[in-house]
Amino acid sequence: MAVGRVVSNGHEPLLEVRDLVKHFPLKRGMLANLAGESEAVHAVNGVSFSVPRGGSIGLAGESGCGKSTTAKMLLRLFEPTSGQIIFDGQDIVTLKGAELKAFRRRAQLMFQNPYESFSPRFTIFRSLAEPLLIHGVKSADERTRRVWQALNDVNLQPAESFFQKFPHQLSGGQLQRVVLARSLVLEPEFLAADEPVSMLDVSVRAGILNTMKEQAAQRNLTTVYISHDLSLIQYLCETTAIMYLGQIVELGPTAGVINEPQHPYTKALISTIPIPEPERKKTTIPIEGGVPSAINLPSGCPFHPRCPYAMDICKRKVPPPLDLGQGRTVRCFLYGGKDEAEKSEVAA
Ligand code: SF4
Repeated sequence: MAVGRVVSNGHEPLLEVRDLVKHFPLKRGMLANLAGESEAVHAVNGVSFSVPRGGSIGLAGESGCGKSTTAKMLLRLFEPTSGQIIFDGQDIVTLKGAELKAFRRRAQLMFQNPYESFSPRFTIFRSLAEPLLIHGVKSADERTRRVWQALNDVNLQPAESFFQKFPHQLSGGQLQRVVLARSLVLEPEFLAADEPVSMLDVSVRAGILNTMKEQAAQRNLTTVYISHDLSLIQYLCETTAIMYLGQIVELGPTAGVINEPQHPYTKALISTIPIPEPERKKTTIPIEGGVPSAINLPSGCPFHPRCPYAMDICKRKVPPPLDLGQGRTVRCFLYGGKDEAEKSEVAA
């Protein structure tokens, strides 16, 4: 099995991401341009993973780790600098025109901020019917039926009572349910949700997460969840990928990654999750400082400036992804690859 490949539910991958890279060039002054100097934000630096049909993966990490940029590339909202995104056997990076439009019907993104997701001048019905019109559902009756069904499925009932409402007449929780309904109305096969409940009060989050989980199961949706909140990922995802500075540093079945983290960064992240058992002692892994700039990436292992276990080799060489078995991979010299990295230095 290739490193980063996850076939957790026995189905073939619907989505396979191969060595995905996204660099955003920075605009520089005229003198710097004349001197040929160029800088870029290295947002995503060689990400690979796969998700089986009907499966779910969570991309977790601190702000700036590249998880949202990765999600936007999966939907072709950002063009990758390099790499492949294989969706149902086809590289979507190459799609144009009608083929790209057809892909967009099958793959949807659920946005983070429900308050900025709708035109304030459109009724809820119009906001949900618009994608159907764009994707060729010509029958008004069929559009009405599908809008009704989507609202009903996300527990906005009676669905017809929401048709003529405007966004400002709904609570944040109701509005986020409408965001979910809009992403389901085209009956997609793939859904990416970027921090789907982070803008909502804690009191309404659980209900929306339950609805998302139910709908994903009922529709056999393949899902990618983006979140800094590992407890959300633990609840929703079969597989978890921990990202740091644009790389997946650890990947595997969620229970394994959360209960037995291997990478020092994953251990540090897990140690910050509150445990509702005051008696139980927690080991906190100290990591110093903040995430380094994605413009000037650290040499070697990108985590070495903050890692309490950093060795000399970590400053010079990038650890390769190591297959730990049982669908788990980690990028860290503590688990192997150190001797090979040192030998390659001598040979060079
Ligand atoms: Fe820490 Fe080295 Fe492992 Fe990177 S490779 S996480 S610096 S021990």
